[in-house]
Amino acid sequence: MINEATRLNVEEGQDDRLLKPLGGYLGYSNEWRELAQVISRDIFSSDPNVRWDDIIGLDNAKRIMKEAVVYPIKYPQLFTGILSPWKGLLLYGPPGTGKTLLAKAVATECNTTFFNISASSIVSKWRGDSEKLVRVLFELARFHAPSTIFLDELESLMSQRGSSGGGTEHEGSRRMKTELLVQMDGLAKTDDLVFLLAASNLPWELDHAMLRRLEKRILVDLPTEEAREAMFKHHLPPLITPESHGLDLRAEIDYKLLAGATQGYSGSDIRLVAKEAAMTPVRKVFQVLEQLAEAEEPHIALDPVTTQDVQSAIAHTKPSARLLTEKYKKWQQEYESV
Ligand code: ADP
Repeated sequence: MINEATRLNVEEGQDDRLLKPLGGYLGYSNEWRELAQVISRDIFSSDPNVRWDDIIGLDNAKRIMKEAVVYPIKYPQLFTGILSPWKGLLLYGPPGTGKTLLAKAVATECNTTFFNISASSIVSKWRGDSEKLVRVLFELARFHAPSTIFLDELESLMSQRGSSGGGTEHEGSRRMKTELLVQMDGLAKTDDLVFLLAASNLPWELDHAMLRRLEKRILVDLPTEEAREAMFKHHLPPLITPESHGLDLRAEIDYKLLAGATQGYSGSDIRLVAKEAAMTPVRKVFQVLEQLAEAEEPHIALDPVTTQDVQSAIAHTKPSARLLTEKYKKWQQEYESV
């Protein structure tokens, strides 16, 4: 699946390609360069490295993403006139269900320039200047098209509730949102292959000005039982080693039973459960290692993870978004575009 170490390394590396002045761009200045530097360092991701097959389940969401973004990038000649592509897509649903993975898969499979930002972190870091950052971001995206911009936590720009964050924060959100709307209108008017994939866990907090520009809306739902089973198999795969003579050392893991016991869990919850369960045999080894005399050469052999280990991890984990399921479904009926 995704090689975490590679991903981090690549993301940390800065790609100077983005810092070259854009041809014919008159507003190039120190401020512009500074913002482009921030985008190159914190937002641009040179190799998101997620394949469609890395994403378990979500067949419907994958199909819509291919139709809406992948094919228009691959075969632009087919998507003209009435078929001109949607430029704004909303991925909504519970947290940890694969929205980021979907955006990365589009970027990987289509080899687009990929920008990955969280609306709330931009506003908290850049406050009143967040709108300038958005402007430069879209400029870079257009120049380096085809591009996909993944904008996470979109609802953080929308909350009009109270003044808990203080005046500046609210002002920063408002400005960034206005700039975003302007930029999205700009995208819709051109043939540039720049796609905004916005994600939200709370789509009902988005206002109509924003929703109108995110015409394609895709529910990224909690995994089905079948998908949960595949996830457990992925994280805790059957263990067949040369010494096991073709026997599965983890044969005692009952994947079906675990899938049945995790209704309402997100993909990210299941990953946590599997990780916690995989720690159980490691903890036992730690106990032995602690008792060894210093000079002794440790001989480490881990017990296989058992169904019981996983069940006990499940008992200690609460699914994060179960209560909202009905609300997503209701919102889908009202606002889904397909
Ligand atoms: P979000 O919907 O909040 O953007 P992410 O896409 O970041 O969620 O998923 C978080 C993590 O959960 C992923 O890195 C992955 O390990 C796991 N995960 C969630 N959904 C899936 C899925 N459908 N297939 C495979 N892994 C998943």
